[in-house]
Amino acid sequence: MIPLIDLDRQFQMIKDEAMEAIRRVYDSGQYILGSEGKQFEEEVKIYLETPFAIGVGNGTDALVLALDALNIGDGDEVITTPFTFFATAEAISRVGATPVFVDIEPVTFNIDPTHIKKAITSQTKAIMPVHLFGHPANMDPIMTIAKDHNLYVIEDACQAFGSSVNGKKVGTIGDIGCFSFFPTKNLGTMGDGGLVVTKHKHVAERIRVLRHHGSTKKYYHQEIGYNSRLDEIQAALLRISLTHIDDLNKRRQKTASFYQEQLSTLKGITVPKSIEGTEHIFHLYCIEVDDREHLSKGLSQAGIANGVYYPLPLHLQEVYKHLGHQANDFPISEEKSKRLLAIPMHPYLTDAEQNEIVKSIKLLVTENG
Ligand SMILES: *Cc1c(COP(=O)(O)O)cnc(C)c1O
Repeated sequence: MIPLIDLDRQFQMIKDEAMEAIRRVYDSGQYILGSEGKQFEEEVKIYLETPFAIGVGNGTDALVLALDALNIGDGDEVITTPFTFFATAEAISRVGATPVFVDIEPVTFNIDPTHIKKAITSQTKAIMPVHLFGHPANMDPIMTIAKDHNLYVIEDACQAFGSSVNGKKVGTIGDIGCFSFFPTKNLGTMGDGGLVVTKHKHVAERIRVLRHHGSTKKYYHQEIGYNSRLDEIQAALLRISLTHIDDLNKRRQKTASFYQEQLSTLKGITVPKSIEGTEHIFHLYCIEVDDREHLSKGLSQAGIANGVYYPLPLHLQEVYKHLGHQANDFPISEEKSKRLLAIPMHPYLTDAEQNEIVKSIKLLVTENG
């Protein structure tokens, strides 16, 4: 079986370095909020070119902490995309605010800025774009709208570590950027982990306090916070992966170019495109397929893993029934949820595997046409 993502292969490549890092933490006697976490924050700041970075427990917490640090909560609205992993909207709901969905762009699958303005009300506090599958959201118009309406921009960059827009890394464009280091993410670790970056000093300070029980001095608490820190072992492992991330992302892009070259002319298939000026890191490679069921079944039979991201847009989820949405409210999101199929994409996909995947797709699509 060729898996969608091969974590084992990825972690085998850094095994010696990783074992040494784990041993270093083991012997240090410091497992939470120690020097590895601090050094990772310094190193990731340099990589992303951002003034403030705070390691947290996971990507979902990064979003929750970002919202909370901006005092977004009960009665507030946050405009976001319905075509994303659930955690984006979950974080908004978790702080007591309401996710207000607007439809996506057909090419990038990201929030469509042309729909944002009409979704703004007096309750709107922020826009939360997601850089889905690693493709940057259309940030220029989003930033303009936010400025005109005095709204915050919180970037959900959980699938896009290292992606950029005109040379600027995603996560550092808006007020706050949130990252996840869940094992399957393009910068992943061997457990949970997350990061908040921001250009605002007071936000960074607030998040540092919030992630640690609302405390700046041990056993003295100034507010109700969270227990959400990046632990030392994950930080030590991430310091290693961070030195490889450009190479890992380039390998993904190389595979994406091969797929594009081989699959873009096939009838009944549309390959993902990167908009000019953006650096897409292909966290996932999702093709659009006329007959998804046939291709999916055929690939599975041929031993090639494939998957649907995401089968049900968030506005149609049971948990958001109270928002009163119906089918066809966001037609592009709904169409993509029926047509997209992820094929294997990870940095260590061999040439032989890539050839086999392409061959199988060609065969299945032609027999269908
Ligand atoms: C993975 C992911 C999250 C949540 O990250 P966790 O570390 O799993 O909590 C949030 N948003 C998006 C778009 C994601 O893909």
